[in-house]
Amino acid sequence: MMNRILRILNESNRCTVLTGAGVSTLSGIRDFRGKNGLNKEFRGEMIFDIDLFYQNASYYYNHTRKFIYNFDEKQPNVVHRVLAILEKRKIIRSVITQNIDLLHQKAGSISVREIHGTPSVHRCLTCGKTYCFNEVREKLKKEKVPLCDHCLGVLKPDITFYGERRPENALRNAVYAAKTCDCMMVLGSSLLVYPAASLPEMATANGARLIIVNRQPTYLDAKAELRYDDLKDVFEHIEAQL
Ligand code: ZN
Repeated sequence: MMNRILRILNESNRCTVLTGAGVSTLSGIRDFRGKNGLNKEFRGEMIFDIDLFYQNASYYYNHTRKFIYNFDEKQPNVVHRVLAILEKRKIIRSVITQNIDLLHQKAGSISVREIHGTPSVHRCLTCGKTYCFNEVREKLKKEKVPLCDHCLGVLKPDITFYGERRPENALRNAVYAAKTCDCMMVLGSSLLVYPAASLPEMATANGARLIIVNRQPTYLDAKAELRYDDLKDVFEHIEAQL
């Protein structure tokens, strides 16, 4: 039964993958919306509230030190690893992700479209100077809120906060990747949040095959050629055959 997924992947040469929180939770990163979500302890909608950030950026940095800026402690899992290999083999063309943990890049994926933004770039709210993730990580070892070297303005990550517009470039690239793929794999996303929710249908409307691996049901399950629950099982199986 699981060999069917390998067959479809082998027949594909421009597969687009959409990854959601389920892929991160395999690496021990908690989900905002899931059952053990961050919302139980502190509230995702407050941490990523843009007005609150402008008023008091330390709220964001206090709460994210240990789950965004602890990059060294987080390891890519079997899903990240397999996707990076399949990209090198020209089976996967791009990975669209709702996640902000940078683990696809850490695993070696090159074409990653981060539709909820990214902490890989931080920007000074005053002068616009940009800082890479590692620079900000270093600053956070000494400062509660990282400040601009230039003007002492507050640095904000390019993560899309509630109340902000989605990153246009990433979104445009994601739509293109969805519309032009021959196979769309939805991994660890329940397809409840837009714009991610609309991407698989753009793919199937243009004739792409659809594979869904997700613990919870999705509204597109009936359209999927293959449907599995357990990401770990499926990707360990694929990894063993690579
Ligand atoms: Zn500045």
